[in-house]
Amino acid sequence: MLDPVDPAVLDPVALDAADPLAAVVDRFEPGDDLVAYLDGNSLGRPLRATVDALPEFVRTQWAGRLIRGWDEGWLSQGERLGDRIGAACLGAASGQTVVADSTTVLIFKLLRAAIAARRDRDGIRDELVIVADEFPTDRFIVERLASDHGLTVRWVDAPHDGGITPALAAEAVSERTIAALFSGVAYRSAWLADIAAVTGVVQSQGALAVWDCSHAVGSVPLSLDHWGVDYAVGCSYKYLNGGPGAPAWAYVAARHQGALRNPIPGWLGAAEPFSMTSGFEPAPGIRRLVSGTPPIVGMVPIADMVTEIEAAGIEAVRAKSVALTEYAIALVDALIPDAVVASPRDAARRGGHITVDHPKARRAVDRLWVEGVIPDFRHPSGVRIGLSPLSTSFAEVERGVRALAAALA
Ligand SMILES: *Cc1c(COP(=O)(O)O)cnc(C)c1O
Repeated sequence: MLDPVDPAVLDPVALDAADPLAAVVDRFEPGDDLVAYLDGNSLGRPLRATVDALPEFVRTQWAGRLIRGWDEGWLSQGERLGDRIGAACLGAASGQTVVADSTTVLIFKLLRAAIAARRDRDGIRDELVIVADEFPTDRFIVERLASDHGLTVRWVDAPHDGGITPALAAEAVSERTIAALFSGVAYRSAWLADIAAVTGVVQSQGALAVWDCSHAVGSVPLSLDHWGVDYAVGCSYKYLNGGPGAPAWAYVAARHQGALRNPIPGWLGAAEPFSMTSGFEPAPGIRRLVSGTPPIVGMVPIADMVTEIEAAGIEAVRAKSVALTEYAIALVDALIPDAVVASPRDAARRGGHITVDHPKARRAVDRLWVEGVIPDFRHPSGVRIGLSPLSTSFAEVERGVRALAAALA
């Protein structure tokens, strides 16, 4: 823990000088009026490499190869990039991760597949479990699937500055549970779940553990294989810097793939996409989760960022992430004493952002955005400070929190 009263520890120049990843910050596009970007967990900044890679793709791949590109690699691009994300960020052996669709659509596909897998087998299972203040998209899908399939939603009440724990999961999950959908890192509080332990609780009742890792992937090391996770999904425009609307990834543990029932059976998830035969025969392996044509252009920036994470190593990314959030909390404590840190103070239970509650949050964030200081507002009174480890310097955190203190004063 940093000592918030020690000015030497609060010196951002010293912290940047000691940061082994400091040089990576300059690999990102600077932006026009950026003073402090505190929202890399909502939309990551573009790499300079991506500024070149996109037109290069258009010239050499799209214009250069045209329809031949599909045979020359585009068709399997979602699986190959999925394997790289799996190795660099997820602790997933190859053949279990695919890039396709949006996070929202993939959550729907996985939960619908979970219902098919568990309900049809056991008959008695008729409940889905989710945290009550989970991200809206996740809640909406759970509620819709429950109403369409005659299921009950079991809402878990987690603390405002916390999230799912093994004890809370044990209260909610039973022999009636089909699946539990939880966040690896909670989008508001940044609570970092004990994914292994919670997964064990869910599976001990015969239910499937489905993890939304949108706010974890690329900032927190994951070990999905080792933890025995069933299905997982995550966003690629947050800490994977894929750009607005970048396609998401999904993970299905190898043991489940043979029985996985994709509720949107498109031609590119079929065993033989170009045979044009009647009847749907799913592809073996993770490709059966694919529905239609893969979003190839949207994968270009993701690949650039995965290259950076591969080079840095996810453990080093996490070490910087912890140092950044420790520093931000120390600054908030020192400069904004009337704010409430609504995130875990224990770094081991905290992801890559912090949320600070303050009654003037809404107006302060509006004002800061005009000044080029960009945190996020989270209803009703949260200022969310997201510190993307590879693109954020300690000096930037200091500028940002000082500006926030002034705006809240
Ligand atoms: C960002 C995020 C999403 C986003 O879903 P989209 O389909 O990309 O809009 C979903 N769930 C969680 C928990 C998120 O943090």
